Amino acid sequence: MSESSRLRIAIQKSGRLSKESQKLLKSCGVKFNVNEQRLIAHSDNMPIDLLRVRDDDIPGLVMDGVVDLGIIGENVLEEEQIERQTLGKPAECLKLRELDFGACRLSLAVPNEFNYQDATSLEGLRIATSYPNLLRRYMQQKGISYRDCMLKGSVEVAPRAGLSDGICDLVSTGATLEANGLYETEVIYRSMACIIQSTQEQTPDKQALINKILSRINGVVRAKE
Ligand code: ATP
Ligand code: ZN
Repeated sequence: MSESSRLRIAIQKSGRLSKESQKLLKSCGVKFNVNEQRLIAHSDNMPIDLLRVRDDDIPGLVMDGVVDLGIIGENVLEEEQIERQTLGKPAECLKLRELDFGACRLSLAVPNEFNYQDATSLEGLRIATSYPNLLRRYMQQKGISYRDCMLKGSVEVAPRAGLSDGICDLVSTGATLEANGLYETEVIYRSMACIIQSTQEQTPDKQALINKILSRINGVVRAKE
């Protein structure tokens, strides 16, 4: 019932990766029309179904083999991978390639008045983030202990609201940090969008289709370089 002969690709429903993900697939010759209300978009010219979901759900759907491919930020992929390894859940997938969009960095930032020397300045302090696993890995490598403040959104207002001393959040231009009276002190992770495949064995037909899409993606990305 849940097995499909059609290739399933998970992409972000709406957000910073959704338009570029759709554009990439279209430029590979996959024809489809997205209905904003619907989870699934069927391709008219290839045996492909697009699943439009929250980006955070994409790595897990691929790692559990619910979908065959996913387009996701490396930051979300890596965060989920560490989380699943900690919980002993399936955490494997194949990164087919990095894409040419979704560039951002996960950075530490503190209020403008904070006298920051290096990461040890955060020793014992509270750091707000949506990426607790990537933050923990970085701080463990540096041997710094800190206190958690887990927020799925509004991370950048946490210091001003008195919830935390600093933050660890995604940055692309730095405008959001500036608007919130914060400055970037360390980059802890650099990220791009990437395309991933489930480690489940594919039927020859589906694997051939994956290979065809990947080779077209290689062509499209190379042509833009
Ligand atoms: P969803 O509703 O799907 O959970 P979201 O709010 O978590 O969406 P977006 O803000 O749309 O996610 O970001 C999706 C991804 O886009 C990020 O995980 C990251 O890989 C990438 N990205 C690129 N630039 C930025 C940026 N400046 N801020 C946040 N994410 C960025
Ligand atoms: Zn998300």
